[in-house]
Amino acid sequence: MNRQTVHEWSGSRRLLRELRDLMKTERTTQERLDQVVAMIASDMVTEVCSLYLMRAGEVLELYASKGLKPEAVHRTRLRLGEGLVGHIALRARPLALAEAQSHPEFAYRPETGEEIYHSLLGVPLLRDNRVQGVLVVQNVTARSYSDEEVEALETVAMVLSELIVSAAILTEDETRHSEGTSVVPARLSGITLNDGIGMGYAVPHHRGIVISQVVAEDPGAEILRLETALDEMLGRLDRLIETQELGGDGEHQDILETYRMFAKDRGWFARIEEAVREGLTAEAAVQKIQTETRNRMAKVKDPYIRERYADLEDLGNRLLQHLLGAKGTAQAEDLPDDMVLVARNLGPADLLDYDRTRLRAVVLEEGAPTAHVAIVARALGVPTIGRCADLLSEVRPGDFMIADAENGQVFLRPRQGVRASFGEALEAREARKAAQAASRDQEPRTRDGTRIEMLMNAGLLIDVSQLGDSGAEGIGLFRTEVPFMVREAFPGVEAQRDFYARVYELAEGRPITFRTLDVGGDKALPYWSGGEDDNPAMGWRAIRIGLDRPAMLRQQLRALITAADGRPLKVMFPMIAEVAEFAAARRVLEQELSHAARTGRRLPEKLEVGAMLEVPALAWQLPALLRAVDFLSVGSNDLVQFLFASDRGNPRLARRYDALSPPVLNFFRGLAREADAAGVPLSLCGEMAAHPLDAMALLGAGFRTLSMPVSGIGPVKTMLRSLDLPKLQSYMAGLETSANHSLREQLRGYARDRGIAI
Ligand code: PEP
Ligand code: MG
Repeated sequence: MNRQTVHEWSGSRRLLRELRDLMKTERTTQERLDQVVAMIASDMVTEVCSLYLMRAGEVLELYASKGLKPEAVHRTRLRLGEGLVGHIALRARPLALAEAQSHPEFAYRPETGEEIYHSLLGVPLLRDNRVQGVLVVQNVTARSYSDEEVEALETVAMVLSELIVSAAILTEDETRHSEGTSVVPARLSGITLNDGIGMGYAVPHHRGIVISQVVAEDPGAEILRLETALDEMLGRLDRLIETQELGGDGEHQDILETYRMFAKDRGWFARIEEAVREGLTAEAAVQKIQTETRNRMAKVKDPYIRERYADLEDLGNRLLQHLLGAKGTAQAEDLPDDMVLVARNLGPADLLDYDRTRLRAVVLEEGAPTAHVAIVARALGVPTIGRCADLLSEVRPGDFMIADAENGQVFLRPRQGVRASFGEALEAREARKAAQAASRDQEPRTRDGTRIEMLMNAGLLIDVSQLGDSGAEGIGLFRTEVPFMVREAFPGVEAQRDFYARVYELAEGRPITFRTLDVGGDKALPYWSGGEDDNPAMGWRAIRIGLDRPAMLRQQLRALITAADGRPLKVMFPMIAEVAEFAAARRVLEQELSHAARTGRRLPEKLEVGAMLEVPALAWQLPALLRAVDFLSVGSNDLVQFLFASDRGNPRLARRYDALSPPVLNFFRGLAREADAAGVPLSLCGEMAAHPLDAMALLGAGFRTLSMPVSGIGPVKTMLRSLDLPKLQSYMAGLETSANHSLREQLRGYARDRGIAI
């Protein structure tokens, strides 16, 4: 994150000053807005600058324009989501296009005369997290707007929001959050972030932040305010983390520590200070950096990096609370005893602000399973649902709600009968949890006696320390990039060796499969830039970088060989697309082994070298591949996205295709058959292995080794111990030629009918 530098836009300070002076003039609001757009157009050297404001009914009205036809002002109206302007308002994110008209959302409005303008840059006007309007600049030429220009326009948009509020252009209704008025029961769906069921009264999470002054009178005083607020925030954070009731160990602890580390990062703070020096108040400066962070985050798909940005954004919110002395909901005195917290999103430490004894569930409009709030919720044992669309517009404070995180659904204002049946479900769930805990020490063997190997995925030392208690037999995927990502600089061979040696120690003799670095594309390291890829998942990443920059790969392999220090070493290479690539990577490993032998190091007592099967092309080279590898591991997260050509990080596509479908299961069945015939061990290490129903289908398709997030070990073991595998296999053989979109419901029905614990 230190890679980002503060970009200075020479005009920004001058324009801010001009805007501030303009606010003080006596003119009418319309005259002032007309002048603002003219000023921005001239300052940014654009032919057009237009301001759209959100009116009642979620309609964006062209309110002022320099460059578009005057008769379009107050006449052109766009619905939320309509055209590029509506799109910017809907997504609440900036959009910069060199060729605006070729964008699929472009909507042509003849009255504006905008057909001659090729490029467009638009930013939302945000206030209290709500879109108030959109500010747009356009150029005749196909201009590519730089990140600095985007940020500059966002700063201007902040000042403009201020002007709009002070001029009371919008009615109170238009600036207020629309509150639901419905009293009828409703059901919303989302995804499970932490399993469980919770019931209680809705409490919307607010931080109570309202920024009323944007432009500073005295930058020195603002810096002082900023520093005081930072000190207060750090103190509070230290107390929260130290006095929490989460227990001292686990992934959440690591997350909270890293979060605290970010709070102490001078780079982040320096960017805020810089913004104050440009003329903003402390709070506006924090908000400016927040917006920049959010925009950077929007471009990143890798969940890990996104979460780091989300942490920074969250820290900014905390800082704002301290700056403004704002009291958030967590400090309110009249919270119900049974509360269901609802929010757009939460940061990792937010949950700790609330009284755990009253918190029954959390429901978020956003949020992903890897989100830090989800991990903290798991540590706290709070049932949590994410990606619950329309939540905030549907729920009213005080509504009774049931969060059924087992099935990712939310019942708002449910009738009595629904409440009662959930009460019973809660009791049944407690009984099942007790049974799963008991299964941890049981052998993973199916009812017909087939032995299944169960492994866990890891990436942090803290994960490895859970291995002993997890019920897993070893680590089937150690993602070595994770420790690289949290560091300030590329670790040298010795630092890497020490780290891997620690992994060996913590694993206490259980097998570990180390995957070599899978960085690049959007899994960027803060200190290393491989350039921008248009399509990062298919870009310059993983073994492609390893082979093109062999020094990096060699250093890592050398560190692994040294750390093994005579113990068995199991290494696999990610994103292998062809056998030749695997052979080249293996040669690098062999060179390192010879080097180790020459320098008198102890060689691994046993060496196994495998490939991850994530790129479909590899499946059409199986005979040669199976001769070349010692084992094969399917990375289903990537493989499934490539099989369907469907981006794994795109929420719009999240449910479009199902891995439990004829193409994927047939693919797996063929693969398992050939690996088995060649005597090559085959495993699968994607997230799907952690879901009992998916895991059942994988066993039915022929997998006998599964590696999964640790949370899946208990439930999957319970499932397989209740499974008769030959019967499932013959049932699944009958589905091979199915033309269904998904086989999930059929498989679920099969499991239910036979008492398989999914
Ligand atoms: C996968 O793609 O399934 C996998 C395990 O690798 P990652 O999720 O780290 O890309
Ligand atoms: Mg992968």
